[in-house]
Amino acid sequence: MLTKNYGSLRPLPPFFLLLVVFCSPFFSHLATAQAETRVIILGTGTPVPDANRSGPGVAVITNGEAYVFDAGGGMVKKAMQAWSKYDLAELYPQDIKYLFITHLHSDHIHDIAELSGHRWWGRQQRLSVYGPKGLSEYVGHMNDMLTIEADIRAAGTPEQLVTDRHGYLANATEIEDGIVFSNQDITVEAFTVPHGEIRPAFGYRVTTADKTIVISGDSTYSEALAEKARGADILIHEVYSGDQLSRQSEFWQDYHGHSHTSGEQVAAIANIAKPDLVVLYHILFFNASAEDIVGEVKRTYDGDVVMANDLDMF
Ligand SMILES: [Zn+2]
Ligand SMILES: [Zn+2]
Repeated sequence: MLTKNYGSLRPLPPFFLLLVVFCSPFFSHLATAQAETRVIILGTGTPVPDANRSGPGVAVITNGEAYVFDAGGGMVKKAMQAWSKYDLAELYPQDIKYLFITHLHSDHIHDIAELSGHRWWGRQQRLSVYGPKGLSEYVGHMNDMLTIEADIRAAGTPEQLVTDRHGYLANATEIEDGIVFSNQDITVEAFTVPHGEIRPAFGYRVTTADKTIVISGDSTYSEALAEKARGADILIHEVYSGDQLSRQSEFWQDYHGHSHTSGEQVAAIANIAKPDLVVLYHILFFNASAEDIVGEVKRTYDGDVVMANDLDMF
């Protein structure tokens, strides 16, 4: 069913509406474009259902553009909430153009379709997705799926409301280790991380004019990752409670031990990398509290460590 605000004009939060009314229709965009880099945590969860934590997603915003890393389930809704909460026009879903995927586990990719298909008819630029081998096939099937809805909607939508008849189609680029994206504002380097039998799985080192951010994706302990994070401003690293996992069965200790990183291991990585700030995300609690897990890291690491919640900004 068509609704009143389904056209090419995007809805604006109240602050921007005031600017539009009293200043100019273009001022709201200019006012939000700035070089200072901000990191918005869009999702801190895992496949374990959690009412308060969406699937993984991290947005790096610099000079008026958002670069998003992973698209876990619920991430797009969190982007909308961040857009509203922080007046970040860059996070309006149809305006997000760049998405980088760490690996093809479902908890990291479920919202690719949500992002690419969200108000697709108003997209100025189609979504570009970068990620490991297999991504092209996944995105190809996703595009086919979205075409069914797009054909139905386009048939009943006045042409002047459609910016791009095929705006829902995402472009996929399969990547290998090295610099995978670069422009005047940002450089994105992918590096392989050990994540059990999942190959390839990538972490990302992101460099902007004023910040270096390293994102682990899903990874077990990796000295190579620690080297990539050496001197970073922010290391965003996954974590599980080692204290709690040690009480679980041998099977789960072996599985998670080969796929993920305990609090103690995050500390070991941080002691090599010495970032300004460690941000914990993709958290496997196993009944531990947030304080317990931060405590596990701080046992052997005395730098700054925080456990991220969805919508935290750094
Ligand atoms: Zn995961
Ligand atoms: Zn995974």
